[in-house]
Amino acid sequence: MTTIPDIATLAGEAAAETSGTATARARSAVLETLIQRDPGRFRILTGDRPTGRLHLGHYFGTLHNRVRLQNLGVETFVIIADYQVLTDRDAAENLPEYVEDLVLDYLAIGVDPARSTIFAHSAVPALNQLLLPFLSLVSVAELSRNPTVKDEIAHSRQSSVSGLMFTYPAHQAADILFCKANLVPAGQDQLPHLELTRTVARRFNDRYGGATPVFPEPEVLLSNAPLLLGTDGVKMSKSRGNAVTLAADADETARLIRGAKTDSERHITYDPANRPEVSSLVLLAALCQGRTAQEVAAGIGSGGAAALKRTVTEAVNDHLAPIRARRAEYGRDRTYLRQILRDGNERANAVADATLTQVRSAMNSNY
Ligand code: ATP
Ligand code: MG
Repeated sequence: MTTIPDIATLAGEAAAETSGTATARARSAVLETLIQRDPGRFRILTGDRPTGRLHLGHYFGTLHNRVRLQNLGVETFVIIADYQVLTDRDAAENLPEYVEDLVLDYLAIGVDPARSTIFAHSAVPALNQLLLPFLSLVSVAELSRNPTVKDEIAHSRQSSVSGLMFTYPAHQAADILFCKANLVPAGQDQLPHLELTRTVARRFNDRYGGATPVFPEPEVLLSNAPLLLGTDGVKMSKSRGNAVTLAADADETARLIRGAKTDSERHITYDPANRPEVSSLVLLAALCQGRTAQEVAAGIGSGGAAALKRTVTEAVNDHLAPIRARRAEYGRDRTYLRQILRDGNERANAVADATLTQVRSAMNSNY
């Protein structure tokens, strides 16, 4: 495999701290410039848990960037993180359907399986084997203070917390590093995980890398909507019943948006700090229409929440219409979806095997 340099190395500057969202946003703007200049120097890994259909939070948080960067020529890996379903679910009875639905959503938004590798991590043994050395590089304290893990535990459907829940940021490090990705287009909730991935990469290189680092230290690419809120005013999420999915039809979309939480102030403004629910709706219309949130808010003015919701519904339905049409088209052939996954698994396995060979050799366990 060709060596993908760190973005920091490319920029000739120290890698930016990615923990704070403001810092990560600023860094993302720098990354954008670097990507435009030389897309071939980047490799992306992103993905989703097959816990349900993808929604507008995914779309504007990460999916849109994946397709945009793929089309710019950035090599792209899209992971379906099926083991991670078991972090907070007892069983995975709907798994095959959810996995196929993810593939369907990807195709509908424009992920091209000829250029991007779509795969499921349970189908790539060498990727999972990286988890063992990686776990030896992080402390229990580091795993248990991860704020995203804490949040997911709070919303978990299980009565006790599984070991997999605590170790999943390290598993995610394996997901990202197996293909030596240096760029991860993701939402804000992924920032703590990426920090851990960078730590793992750094420690592995320090301990085993010798003169040549084995892994890059990947960075997050945030979009303009790193934390889109759902209809109840908290993070739009598959598991919270507050999401408008890509697959929903126009009527269901209208119903969901009609029921969205707003506030009692009639004049519509874009003020995320003080009016999160209204501002999130304004932002949604703006993202769909390619306008600024301020323009959308000014256009509605004193029209109130009803006018805002009408604008958002129309904007979302117009924007998603072609995606929904393609989704329906691809959905007629489930065999094709499975074939895409099989091909992707095969490509991912070849990459993971090569990385594991390198890791074994770096760790002196190549017998
Ligand atoms: P679950 O509730 O099952 O955890 P989820 O809706 O949080 O599902 P994930 O599969 O955990 O979705 O997230 C996949 C990707 O989408 C991640 O990069 C995540 O940051 C991004 N993402 C998810 N929800 C949002 C959101 N509301 N706004 C922006 N990005 C999001
Ligand atoms: Mg999640």
